[in-house]
Amino acid sequence: MTGTDDTAVLQLDKVSKVYPGTVPVTALEEASFTVHRGDLVAIVGPSGSGKSTLLQVMGTLDRPTSGTVRILGDDAAAMSDRALAGLRAERIGFVFQQFFLADHATAVENVADGLLYAGVRHRQRMAAATAALERVGLGHRLDHRPSQLSGGERQRVAIARALVGDPAIVLADEPTGNLDSVSGAAVYELLTELNADGATIIMITHDRELAARLPRRIEVLDGRIVADVTEQPLLAGRQLP
Ligand code: ADP
Repeated sequence: MTGTDDTAVLQLDKVSKVYPGTVPVTALEEASFTVHRGDLVAIVGPSGSGKSTLLQVMGTLDRPTSGTVRILGDDAAAMSDRALAGLRAERIGFVFQQFFLADHATAVENVADGLLYAGVRHRQRMAAATAALERVGLGHRLDHRPSQLSGGERQRVAIARALVGDPAIVLADEPTGNLDSVSGAAVYELLTELNADGATIIMITHDRELAARLPRRIEVLDGRIVADVTEQPLLAGRQLP
């Protein structure tokens, strides 16, 4: 393991997670892969295959039983819980299936909260949040509360919140899972656009059809990585004879 690949945003090396109990469960077994800057990756697998566990360890929300997780080259195991909280706040944007927006706050306030930890002043937070909402096509919904927004719009707010601090990596856990097919397709399109603009995105999904549309797929089954496939991009502009 080199740890010196400077385009590597996230590196997992033989990461295992065993949940203790009368019958211990090995939810993840020696998972290894590297995600580089600008990647758009689907982590795909059926229910119970270990995707959420993988998200928890990739996002440093939980520590693996063994193996190494590096974020931007730094070994998460060597960091205190407090240092990890700082790393998460500054480097990782999370998007969840259930949105997790504050109901009492407006869209722009919800997004601005994504910058609280960074110590950015209120006026600048609101300006950055407004720009982030415009970027996800919600410039006309700044003062709406989550209850006044559709599911697809709520997920756009959550995506704006994840992106507002310009994180090194966005981890999206079943981001289209609570949406109808039209809103889900729009959220998927938005994530691909944001990736084209430079965001590094890992999307967890059980939806094989959705995963098949992403340039890279990491397949998980029974806690093991069983495939890691990158599509060769079509040669842009090249004409067949
Ligand atoms: P997925 O997200 O793909 O549905 P999970 O990562 O949630 O998969 O679960 C993987 C396996 O680990 C499953 O067998 C699940 O029952 C088990 N598991 C998940 N979380 C816990 C936990 N906190 N304690 C014990 N077993 C767990």
